Amino acid sequence: MSTFQAPKGTYDLIPPRSAVFLAVRDTISGQVRNAGYGYVETPGFEDVNLFARGVGESTDIVTKEMYTLTTKGGDQLALRPEGTASVLRAALQANLHKQGNLPVKLWYSGSYYRYERAQAGRYRHFSQVGAEAIGAEDPALDAELIILADQAYRALGLRQYRILLNSLGDKECRPVYREALQTFLRGLDLDEETLRRAEINPLRVLDDKRADVQKQLVDAPLLRDYLCDACKAYHEQVRELITAAGVVFEDDLKLVRGLDYYTRTTFEFVHDGLGSQSAVGGGGRYDGLSEMIGGPALPSVGWALGVDRTVLALEAEGVTLDLPAPTSVFAVALGEEARRVLFGKVTELRRAGIASDFSFGGKGLKGSMKDANRSGARLTLVAGERDLAEGVVQLKDMESGEQRAVALDEVLDAVRAQLA
Ligand code: AMP
Repeated sequence: MSTFQAPKGTYDLIPPRSAVFLAVRDTISGQVRNAGYGYVETPGFEDVNLFARGVGESTDIVTKEMYTLTTKGGDQLALRPEGTASVLRAALQANLHKQGNLPVKLWYSGSYYRYERAQAGRYRHFSQVGAEAIGAEDPALDAELIILADQAYRALGLRQYRILLNSLGDKECRPVYREALQTFLRGLDLDEETLRRAEINPLRVLDDKRADVQKQLVDAPLLRDYLCDACKAYHEQVRELITAAGVVFEDDLKLVRGLDYYTRTTFEFVHDGLGSQSAVGGGGRYDGLSEMIGGPALPSVGWALGVDRTVLALEAEGVTLDLPAPTSVFAVALGEEARRVLFGKVTELRRAGIASDFSFGGKGLKGSMKDANRSGARLTLVAGERDLAEGVVQLKDMESGEQRAVALDEVLDAVRAQLA
């Protein structure tokens, strides 16, 4: 073991589990690519103020969890704690919203960084796949994203997740509610920090996980009772559209999220097998974010699904993904001449698109056959001096155990036929 370890709150993705991560990313992105979303990739760090303004000055993410740094040139940067602000920044910078094709639909996949108290399911480096639909106010767009996320989890084989849905109102009705909630919170027995939060961002107090706080919130005013007619109608349409798509959800009237930019539709996917870190994904509408970061009004909606927690959810449900073996053909060479010939065959097979591997390291037959077994390959090619003298290699089917001699120049065809 080396003296160095992965930093606290992080872990390495290594085979075979890493293959599950790739499959999860592919399954999620497959859904959005299939729905007109284009791939966007932004830097791993941004101007710290993008997040301070975008995510919110009073959020835990900005006040406690950001990895900030000052470059040698004096720039104040932060490792990205989330994806939405960066993606919107990139879309604005490239003027994507001016090309007459709103909404601009983008998806992304990458690493995110939050200095959190590390525990099972909560890491300081984690991985998300996200999707954003920028520049349109249309309940069908909110519905589309919820349906796509649901479809991604279903396609992975997850069953024990629930969709929580709420509306956070808009700039008309939320301020009225905010004040009512604030008045209510001022009358409670809360610690100083929570009271301060109640003054800056009272909705976030609803999200407090502590039992003694939750107990006092039972009679808190609910945003639903303050929604303006436009927000009510909008929310009703989202609910109808996802219901018509057969997506089951629960109205969660206290659902708020840890980022300030959400308006109207807000949702979270929670998995019941994950303990306290149960959110596998979440998102919502963020109609005000563009203006908050200096852009024009661009009503938008999006989500981010956590890859790490989705993998944990699969493990909690005991779902094993049907992953193809990484190697189809494994070549075992006995002797120098066979090494030269079979190495050439492996290259030929790979060029033909057949996943192939080779017994490296000059092992004997026993060690090489062990490698072949470990590789999971369907077929093995074995050759020694005697085979080469006859111009053949032995082609072995690892499932049936059957073996036959194949002429050297017919290997590709024989392998193709047998794998078909
Ligand atoms: P958020 O941006 O906080 O809404 O997070 C979206 C999703 O990312 C969550 O539902 C989690 O699945 C995942 N996520 C957020 N923070 C972490 C973390 N510290 N560790 C692992 N996954 C996370």
